Formats: sequence, C-alpha cells, structure tokens
Amino acid sequence: MSGASGTPDDAAGLPPAPEVIQMEVGLLQNFCEILYCPQTHEAAIVDPAWEVDRLLNEVGRRGLKVTTVLVTHTHNDHIEGVDLVVEKTGAAVVVNPREAAAVSAPGRKMIDAVDGREISIGKRGLRALETPGHTVGGTCYLGDGYVVTGDVLFVGGCGRTDFTGGDSAQMWKSLQRLTRLPEQTRVYPGHDYGDTPTATIAHELRSNRFLRCATFEEFRALRERKRS
Ligand SMILES: [Zn+2]
Repeated sequence: MSGASGTPDDAAGLPPAPEVIQMEVGLLQNFCEILYCPQTHEAAIVDPAWEVDRLLNEVGRRGLKVTTVLVTHTHNDHIEGVDLVVEKTGAAVVVNPREAAAVSAPGRKMIDAVDGREISIGKRGLRALETPGHTVGGTCYLGDGYVVTGDVLFVGGCGRTDFTGGDSAQMWKSLQRLTRLPEQTRVYPGHDYGDTPTATIAHELRSNRFLRCATFEEFRALRERKRS
C-alpha cells in the first residue's frame, strides 16, 4: 500500500466497485449513497442521518439487504441515522478509529476504516483512504472509478477546517492525495454544494479553486477566509 502519499494505484487490486445510487436527503443538502453488489444484493449506506425511512424504502424497493454503514466522518448531519439503520438491518459500522466513539454502541459490529482497509460489499469492494482535515478521522471510500469524499472534497469546494479537529494543513494534504487519483475518477461528495451532484477529478482540477491553489499558503488563506 502506498499509505498517506497516495498514488493513482490506490484502487489497485480491488474487485469491481459497488453500483452507486446517490440520494439527496434532509435540510442541509446532504448526499447519501446506497452502494450495492448486483450479484449478491448486499448493500452499504453512506452517512445515514436524514430520511432513513426513505433510504430503507429505496433499499427494499430494489430488493437489497443492508450489511454495512460507511461513515465518512461523525458530524451530526452524517450520522444521526446510524442507530436506526443498525437497529433495522443489523449492519456493521465502518468508521475511522479516531472517530469511532461517536457511533459505537454495546454489541454493535464495528470495522476500523484504517488507511488501505478493503471493505467488501458482496462481491464488490472499496478501500478506505484516511483524509483528515475537516475532522481528525475523515475517511474517503475509493472504488475502482469513483471516490466517496464526505466533507473533504465537494464539487467546486472543500470542507471547512475551523471546526473541532479541523486542520488546514491536513486538509491540503488530503486534497492533494485525491487529486492524484486517476482523472476520470468520479467524486461523490457529502453535500450538494456544486453546480452538479458529481464531477470527475479532472473537472475539479480545472474548476475547483481550492484545488487550483499553487501552494499551501495560498490554500490556507483561501480556506480560512471563507467560512462556508
Ligand atoms: Zn462535516
């Protein structure tokens, strides 16, 4: 594994990526994804917080079975539905150890999303990438062809670094790592803040002003000036 340095080969060795259903939920333009294996019908839900009934209805309508909850980070607008999803499905919760306390519970199956950890969804697979900066344990989930970025990278933006655990220098490194993924990699962000619900890394490299900064100092000035 390449670890924190990141390379275009971060997805190397993974089975095909789960299929993606992107859903916008709640009052803060949050995105949830349902990721599933079309062969075994096993599914993961990313960051369940809002409208859990609607998410589970979609799962049921498609004949899927939720085995996994993937947590990108533990701000309330990304985790408030974790308990309900686990209660209704018995899913295991995948989260970075630095933030696990916020979503752990007695008897709950927890999986540490340490860097490079492969997570199986049926016969499909993803890999955890540690991407701190918005929070201490912020994690992206990389599949072959796409990456789920939580509040690290948005279409046209990036996450704030002024909350507890935020760090602009770490965010810069995490974003640099994402920009080294293959350019056609599709980004599934944690909020619908951009002109489009998803975009490619290539698109973001051209148009996202946080990624266009030439130096960390430039990035920090931009990030710490703008509070949204
Ligand atoms: Zn957040």
